[in-house]
Amino acid sequence: MVRIDVEMKKKSLELKAVLDSDLDKMLDELGLLQSMEAGEISCANCGRQITRDNFYCLYVEGGEIKLCCSEMACYEEVAKRQLG
Ligand SMILES: [Zn+2]
Repeated sequence: MVRIDVEMKKKSLELKAVLDSDLDKMLDELGLLQSMEAGEISCANCGRQITRDNFYCLYVEGGEIKLCCSEMACYEEVAKRQLG
Protein backbone atom coordinates (compact mmCIF):
# COMPACT_ATOMS: atom_id res chain seq x y z
CA MET A 1 0.00 0.00 0.00
CA VAL A 2 3.00 2.31 -0.24
CA ARG A 3 3.48 2.28 -3.97
CA ILE A 4 1.25 5.24 -4.69
CA ASP A 5 3.26 8.24 -5.71
CA VAL A 6 2.38 11.86 -6.22
CA GLU A 7 1.89 11.41 -9.92
CA MET A 8 -0.73 8.79 -9.29
CA LYS A 9 -2.48 11.02 -6.80
CA LYS A 10 -2.70 13.75 -9.39
CA LYS A 11 -4.16 11.33 -11.85
CA SER A 12 -6.54 9.61 -9.48
CA LEU A 13 -9.57 11.40 -10.80
CA GLU A 14 -8.71 10.54 -14.35
CA LEU A 15 -8.36 6.83 -13.82
CA LYS A 16 -11.79 6.08 -15.17
CA ALA A 17 -10.27 6.74 -18.56
CA VAL A 18 -8.02 3.72 -18.40
CA LEU A 19 -9.02 0.72 -20.43
CA ASP A 20 -10.50 -2.26 -18.65
CA SER A 21 -7.38 -4.31 -19.18
CA ASP A 22 -5.26 -1.53 -17.76
CA LEU A 23 -7.63 -1.26 -14.85
CA ASP A 24 -7.20 -4.94 -14.04
CA LYS A 25 -3.45 -4.57 -14.28
CA MET A 26 -3.42 -1.51 -12.09
CA LEU A 27 -5.69 -3.06 -9.47
CA ASP A 28 -3.57 -6.18 -9.53
CA GLU A 29 -0.38 -4.19 -9.03
CA LEU A 30 -1.96 -2.41 -6.10
CA GLY A 31 -3.05 -5.73 -4.64
CA LEU A 32 -6.67 -4.67 -4.92
CA LEU A 33 -7.94 -6.94 -7.66
CA GLN A 34 -8.25 -10.00 -5.46
CA SER A 35 -9.85 -8.02 -2.67
CA MET A 36 -12.33 -6.55 -5.09
CA GLU A 37 -13.19 -9.94 -6.52
CA ALA A 38 -13.59 -11.26 -2.99
CA GLY A 39 -16.04 -8.46 -2.24
CA GLU A 40 -13.77 -6.93 0.37
CA ILE A 41 -13.59 -3.44 -1.10
CA SER A 42 -16.16 -0.87 -0.22
CA CYS A 43 -16.76 2.70 -1.27
CA ALA A 44 -14.95 5.14 1.01
CA ASN A 45 -17.94 7.42 0.85
CA CYS A 46 -21.11 5.32 1.06
CA GLY A 47 -19.70 1.95 2.15
CA ARG A 48 -21.30 0.08 -0.72
CA GLN A 49 -19.41 -2.95 -1.98
CA ILE A 50 -17.29 -2.07 -4.99
CA THR A 51 -17.00 -4.39 -7.96
CA ARG A 52 -15.49 -3.77 -11.37
CA ASP A 53 -18.98 -2.82 -12.49
CA ASN A 54 -19.47 0.08 -10.13
CA PHE A 55 -15.85 1.05 -9.59
CA TYR A 56 -15.38 4.68 -10.43
CA CYS A 57 -11.98 5.83 -9.23
CA LEU A 58 -9.37 5.47 -6.60
CA TYR A 59 -7.56 8.14 -4.70
CA VAL A 60 -5.15 8.57 -1.84
CA GLU A 61 -6.19 10.12 1.40
CA GLY A 62 -4.11 10.10 4.56
CA GLY A 63 -1.66 7.73 2.89
CA GLU A 64 -4.35 5.14 2.26
CA ILE A 65 -5.76 4.03 -1.05
CA LYS A 66 -9.48 4.58 -1.16
CA LEU A 67 -11.95 3.60 -3.79
CA CYS A 68 -15.08 5.33 -4.86
CA CYS A 69 -18.17 3.80 -6.42
CA SER A 70 -19.97 5.20 -9.44
CA GLU A 71 -22.72 6.95 -7.50
CA MET A 72 -22.69 10.58 -8.53
CA ALA A 73 -22.89 11.75 -4.92
CA CYS A 74 -19.81 9.71 -4.10
CA TYR A 75 -17.54 10.86 -6.84
CA GLU A 76 -18.66 14.43 -6.40
CA GLU A 77 -17.65 14.10 -2.77
CA VAL A 78 -14.26 12.66 -3.78
CA ALA A 79 -13.71 15.39 -6.35
CA LYS A 80 -14.53 18.00 -3.75
CA ARG A 81 -12.03 16.55 -1.28
CA GLN A 82 -9.31 15.98 -3.84
CA LEU A 83 -9.61 19.34 -5.49
CA GLY A 84 -9.91 21.16 -2.21
ZN1 LIG B 1 -20.25 5.24 -2.96
